[in-house]
Amino acid sequence: MELLTIGAFARASRLSQKALRIYDELGLLPPARVDPLSGYRLYAPDQLDRARLVAWLRRLGMPLARIRQVCDLDAAAAAEDVRAYWAQVEADTTARRNLAVFLADHLSRKDTQMSGEAPSFGIRYAMRTDRGLVRESNQDSGYAGARLLAVADGFGAGGEPVSAAAIDALTPLDAAIPAGDLLNALSDAVHRAETAVGEHLAADPAHQGSGTTLTALVWSGSQLGLVHVGDSRVYLLRGGELFRITHDHTVVQSLIDEGKLTEEEAQSHPQRSILLRALHGATVEPDLELREARPGDRYLLCSDGLYNVVPMETLHRVLSEVDDPEQAVRTLVELVNSGGAPDNVTCVVADLVPAS
Ligand code: MG
Repeated sequence: MELLTIGAFARASRLSQKALRIYDELGLLPPARVDPLSGYRLYAPDQLDRARLVAWLRRLGMPLARIRQVCDLDAAAAAEDVRAYWAQVEADTTARRNLAVFLADHLSRKDTQMSGEAPSFGIRYAMRTDRGLVRESNQDSGYAGARLLAVADGFGAGGEPVSAAAIDALTPLDAAIPAGDLLNALSDAVHRAETAVGEHLAADPAHQGSGTTLTALVWSGSQLGLVHVGDSRVYLLRGGELFRITHDHTVVQSLIDEGKLTEEEAQSHPQRSILLRALHGATVEPDLELREARPGDRYLLCSDGLYNVVPMETLHRVLSEVDDPEQAVRTLVELVNSGGAPDNVTCVVADLVPAS
């Protein structure tokens, strides 16, 4: 077999000679032979396939260390690894896009805050949490205050203390926060929750593998900050319509997003509770969002114990018909219990009312 010079191989593989030298040094694509006298690198024609794969993977932006890993796999495993890599890139891009939208919002509203038009609202609220009819303990935690509403759904042996620790870490947000500080306050609070969960898990080895979801709303003047990790949800009743405003961080939601599963199929999917993001001791990327608060808005925060049992049309009906938040959360929990209550359930209902 005739060997190719580095120049010929570079042309054939569409990689530069400089790149080929670097890939040699990294052990990614060593030449078939190095001339002992001249030091020239010589390549075999059957190395072209690998070289072209390297070139394509570089175009994807894959780091060299990972490319080496992919090149050493058989075709099926390599395909799987490329898919996994790209799913991660897309998830990171989504997180960065959300952060960009959040920051742009944050900065533009900082401007209006400065011009002084910051109407304030009061909140009428109620929270109810229930063990349900099947589980031995209630691993959900909830909080409802004048400026903070939160739900956490713990899982694993330590689910109960971990969800409580996450909510505890948020409670300093139930205070007057200048609108311009909302972003940093939310981010600090999630970090505190993350640390609290991590410390709890480190202190109790029996609780390894436990974690919690965390979904919260914080008010500051006419702004509403939303922080969300996991599959608890926020719904908004506005103008008579009910909207879901959080995106579940679950395997089934990503299958829905990819068009591989319908919402209906997802409801009975055996893996519907597998989370892609949760507070479980490692750093987590929460969804952060700023929203406009409007008088007349009604918010529902809930754990999956509610929406897995009570269909959206029924949520819509109860939230539209039952005026008193306390009565509304009681009705929702009763509906869950009459539906068999296979999981813990937590609901927070809050109405935005003009400040008196
Ligand atoms: Mg649950």
